[in-house]
Amino acid sequence: MLDCEPVIAVGLIEGAGQIDFELQGVYSLGGRVVRAGCYRSFFDRGCIVLSDAQGRELERSARLQYVPAAASENFFTLHNAVIGRDFHWERLQSQRFRGEIAFDTFGTSGITVVNRIGLEAYLEAVICSEMSPESDPEFLKAHCVISRSWLLAQLELKRAARMPAAPADAAFTDAAAHKNFDVCNDDHCQRYHGMSRVNGAAQQALAETRGKVLVFDGKICDTRFSKCCGGISERFSACWQDVDFDYLSPVADCAHGSAGFKPPASSEAEARKFILASPPAFCNVTDRTLLARVLPDFDCETQQFFRWSVSLAQDELQGLLKQKAGIDCGAIMSLMPLARGDSGRIYKLKIIGTKAEKVIAKELAIRRALSPTHLYSSAFIVETSGAKDGIPASFTLHGAGWGHGVGLCQIGAAAMAAQGYRYDAILAHYFRGAALHAIY
Ligand SMILES: [Zn+2]
Ligand SMILES: [Zn+2]
Repeated sequence: MLDCEPVIAVGLIEGAGQIDFELQGVYSLGGRVVRAGCYRSFFDRGCIVLSDAQGRELERSARLQYVPAAASENFFTLHNAVIGRDFHWERLQSQRFRGEIAFDTFGTSGITVVNRIGLEAYLEAVICSEMSPESDPEFLKAHCVISRSWLLAQLELKRAARMPAAPADAAFTDAAAHKNFDVCNDDHCQRYHGMSRVNGAAQQALAETRGKVLVFDGKICDTRFSKCCGGISERFSACWQDVDFDYLSPVADCAHGSAGFKPPASSEAEARKFILASPPAFCNVTDRTLLARVLPDFDCETQQFFRWSVSLAQDELQGLLKQKAGIDCGAIMSLMPLARGDSGRIYKLKIIGTKAEKVIAKELAIRRALSPTHLYSSAFIVETSGAKDGIPASFTLHGAGWGHGVGLCQIGAAAMAAQGYRYDAILAHYFRGAALHAIY
């Protein structure tokens, strides 16, 4: 039990050379008052320089900390913040934040921006960034609980440092990857794209679940979530460290839960059958009206996610493997799955080429290596065509799901809420055996 909600440090930007921003309301910077207006900061000879809109230098230091005079009324707007870094939805946005903001060099040659804010205010922005605040209230409440639990579990892990280090080739680690703040503001941790989209429904969902987390065996659950499981949720160990948790056991994403559940990982033939089929699942949503209501605008641009296909020509695939994974096996003869998780996601993939063979481990490394951004998921089967001397001219990947698939399936959960499920039932479906507790 905590006395009050914690204050957390969120990394908004790392290693920038120049930052344009705007203050709405009065802030204090050291002993100095900084009035509302537009400003620019840039890195210069080991320091961060603050200049006004006319380019006049106002301050120069290795650390500039802006404290709002009125915490609930002041806003800090960052222009040109990157969202969806390295994913297919990457773009620039202006974002508004509350709370304290610090610009720091941390001894590097760029500026890192860190926002210190109360956990509940942070969550308000997170649930409106991860999904649309127009989603059903029961879905928003479920998201409040998992976003809060995930964050507190990460803080606890960092403190205790009891998690084994991620394998070097896993590529996707977790909040322990951040040295200078608790969590980042993007898909790597949780999306925190500012307060602009926060509405009354989000605030009410937060108020109704204040301090509530999922607990298992006396510990706060590491409640992972992703966009669409593809029909069955995945195990933790397919994506991150080689450990598993009972409450993250794979579940069939349908009303009957795990009844008659047969994981497609048992054989390549089962995986093919599952991925080429379109089984009934909460996240098998074709109703664009529902999707438009629950997904943020930039996620709505992704039309195919439950089942999808991507084609790569031989030279394109060779180029990607070289550029994204440093793998040069010559001409690629085959992409061979060596191990799949319960959702069909491949977590060991062998690349067989004319010159060499290489194995890529963990789902995110596989998704990164086979796409200019990231593949939707690593649950795919491969079809080749136009083979000449055993060397295919092209590879078509038929896949299932969007994201790592562990824990809560966001589109499935939004569909459950639309069908009338309460938030505690949604949480019980994805996190088997976990209990709801208020910790402050
Ligand atoms: Zn992160
Ligand atoms: Zn799902």
